[in-house]
Amino acid sequence: MTKLTFLGTGTSQGVPIIGCQCPVCKSADSRDKRFRSSALVQMDGLTIVVDAGPDFRSQMLAGDVRHLDAILLTHNHKDHTGGLDDVRSFNYIDKKAVEIYCEERVLKTLRNDYAYAFAEHKYPGAPEWHIHLIDERPFRVESLENSGELEWVHDVGYFYRQADGSLKPSDNAVNEASHLNPNVIPIRGLHGPMPVLGFRFGNIAYITDMSTLPEEELSKLKGLEHVTLNTVSYHPHHSHFSLDEALQLAGKIGARHTWLTHLSHAFPSHEAFCEELRALCAEKGINSIVQPAYDGLTISDKC
Ligand SMILES: [Zn+2]
Ligand SMILES: [Zn+2]
Ligand SMILES: [Zn+2]
Repeated sequence: MTKLTFLGTGTSQGVPIIGCQCPVCKSADSRDKRFRSSALVQMDGLTIVVDAGPDFRSQMLAGDVRHLDAILLTHNHKDHTGGLDDVRSFNYIDKKAVEIYCEERVLKTLRNDYAYAFAEHKYPGAPEWHIHLIDERPFRVESLENSGELEWVHDVGYFYRQADGSLKPSDNAVNEASHLNPNVIPIRGLHGPMPVLGFRFGNIAYITDMSTLPEEELSKLKGLEHVTLNTVSYHPHHSHFSLDEALQLAGKIGARHTWLTHLSHAFPSHEAFCEELRALCAEKGINSIVQPAYDGLTISDKC
């Protein structure tokens, strides 16, 4: 069984937005309070977080997350990577680097944004990340708890300390064997002009920050119990699906449930938005139950 908990369902500024006095930002309904978009996935005994934005610390505390096997990054925008310094807590708890899976273009931004985490002579207490480079190919996330402690060797890179005391180099490329027995299927989309990844875990697919999902990716989204799609506005947007585009796509994918995320204060508060979506789906004949996601909601692919 795969479980997904929404840790954040808000747009890049979150909801409420600082200083905004609109009814949604002032709503008393806790489902209208949205951290930056992120999800916790539990499957095969693994605990995986998708994206680590500026609310990462609060999200780990709210979700009582005590151990992480991996962080998967969809793309390199700050509302999805701005909390990576706070993995230090997991470095201390697990006594190892945090395993981060991302594309090369995302790694390039991380090297720039967090130069101190990649410095040759890192200061003690800097976050420790072990990067696995991924692409569109399905790959396997595994528990690396028994791979030994990761050690930084000056001017050389990370090595795993083996049980016999020897050092084994840690390779950034995802192990080729992991493509043969995958448990994560990347979904390629575009966020404006920027290539981004969504991910399928079991019968749950998590898609955020897309404005285009190429037709050929739809075959990876067959037979889903749940799909998550992003929308920020009723109007066409340069880098996100509009509500209408998200609904059209929900119909095309045909998952039993569609959850909307990366939501902004442009949409009404939770109850009113549920009502509006019910009416829109009936009117458009959309064959999926479309609802707004909210922080703390858990879904699973076997009810
Ligand atoms: Zn975003
Ligand atoms: Zn507002
Ligand atoms: Zn983005």
